[in-house]
Amino acid sequence: MEMLSGYAPCDDYINAVVEVKTGLTAPDLLQHLQQLEMIAGRQRPYINAPRNLDLDLLLYGNGHIESSMLTVPHPRMWQRAFVLVPLAEIAPGLVAPDMLDAVKSQVISRL
Ligand code: AMP
Repeated sequence: MEMLSGYAPCDDYINAVVEVKTGLTAPDLLQHLQQLEMIAGRQRPYINAPRNLDLDLLLYGNGHIESSMLTVPHPRMWQRAFVLVPLAEIAPGLVAPDMLDAVKSQVISRL
């Protein structure tokens, strides 16, 4: 699971990757994440609108899910240094060195 907080595509934002244990199915977990976004006051005025909170489901165990509501693994996670670097910290076995190499030109910094 990933959390992204920012206000405009060009602004800096804070990102984190967390691992959770849950009895929820992946669609139910996504629904809970979307409820949390709603509680945080997230608006969706248009696609890719700047958001104050973005909670994504990156992985669900070894699951592969392709539905109208949910794609797991998250389709863009492998292109994002702000996902791969923190993911590699908590689950190094999931992120091969060449994956990190592929995103190393993206500027991120640790808080
Ligand atoms: P976003 O604006 O990035 O939060 O995207 C939200 C939309 O992406 C929602 O309508 C979700 O149903 C859909 N979606 C598909 N796969 C995922 C995923 N792995 N994690 C979060 N949202 C997803």
